[in-house]
Amino acid sequence: MSAAREFGKPDCKIWTKIKRVERCIRSNDYEIESKNPQFRTTQLKLSRKIQNMKLPRSQSMRSKTKPEKPHIAPKFYGVYLLRSIPKPGTFYIGSTPDPVRRLRQHNGELTSGAYRTKRKGCRPWDMIMLVHGFPNKIAALQFEHAWQHCYQTRHIDVSKRITTTKTGGRSLAHKVGNVRLLLNAPFFKAMALKIMCFDEVVYNTYVENKFRVQGGDDSLFIEYVKMIPNKDDGNLKDVEDFKEKYTTRNKALMEKFSKTLQHGEHECPYCDEMIDYINSDEFPYISICYHNDCENICHLMCLYKQTVDPPSRTNEKQLIPQKVKCQKCSRVLLWAEVAKISTWIRGEIGLHEPDIMNSQQTTDMMIEEEDNFED
Ligand SMILES: [Zn+2]
Ligand SMILES: [Zn+2]
Repeated sequence: MSAAREFGKPDCKIWTKIKRVERCIRSNDYEIESKNPQFRTTQLKLSRKIQNMKLPRSQSMRSKTKPEKPHIAPKFYGVYLLRSIPKPGTFYIGSTPDPVRRLRQHNGELTSGAYRTKRKGCRPWDMIMLVHGFPNKIAALQFEHAWQHCYQTRHIDVSKRITTTKTGGRSLAHKVGNVRLLLNAPFFKAMALKIMCFDEVVYNTYVENKFRVQGGDDSLFIEYVKMIPNKDDGNLKDVEDFKEKYTTRNKALMEKFSKTLQHGEHECPYCDEMIDYINSDEFPYISICYHNDCENICHLMCLYKQTVDPPSRTNEKQLIPQKVKCQKCSRVLLWAEVAKISTWIRGEIGLHEPDIMNSQQTTDMMIEEEDNFED
């Protein structure tokens, strides 16, 4: 599927870094460095991460004879912004498949990982913003990297930058302004990402749009909760509530899809071919309308042709449509959402692959070891 491939295109800098570490591990270089226990632990962790990571076909280290696993988008992948409670001018950017576990690590409740946020008496941390809805882990890594390096990322035009130097732009308004810029970058815009603000102040800062960043439909992307301050574990309760709500909603959605498919044969309204997940072994990528009271089923590629905003054939960046229209209920569907859900339906209901969210619990970000710590 071209959409998935486009999302998976790796950011050169991250891949250069991964390749470098890969080489280092393959040639057993970490043995030389092993006098430093912290470095050795990091290297071992990285080697495990690389083995778990889905590399582009040409760069894959896996054996070619192994059957390829179906692509299933992660149920959740988020890039977050932390703010230190004792030092509110200090921020930290990271990414995770599990924001609850990650915040507990940052605040020292769980011992593994996140040693960078231990320092300088910054604990505890509040998770004040969470950008989510990424189609895969690599896309989240790219967003994380771009947010950390907004003074040089290719996703923000030089003329539009609000942070121009490595040491500049450290206020909340800058952090939030850069999210706005990234969400409007063609690459990330196509992913229909969502923002969760765990603080009214952060939400207001976003809406205020101090740097007058053009574009974007706020109502489509953003939601917020009022923060309940807590001295010990930051806003863990708020993040837990968010995760609970998110998981419940997804579960209900999958139950709805499963129920719809139980009826057996369905005719695709566009090509008139039958879709049958019960009596057939073929599980094409399909779309089931995610709006309430609508169960419209069709092939994903048939729906692709019904785009509301026909993508430009000459501009590669716009090959992916933003919106499509449900033929039955006439409501707009976000293409990125539909495409993502389609991989869940095919993987979990069709091929009975286990929920990918659980299999990704052990992954952590490698680039967080770098210079994303700011104060
Ligand atoms: Zn069709
Ligand atoms: Zn519909």
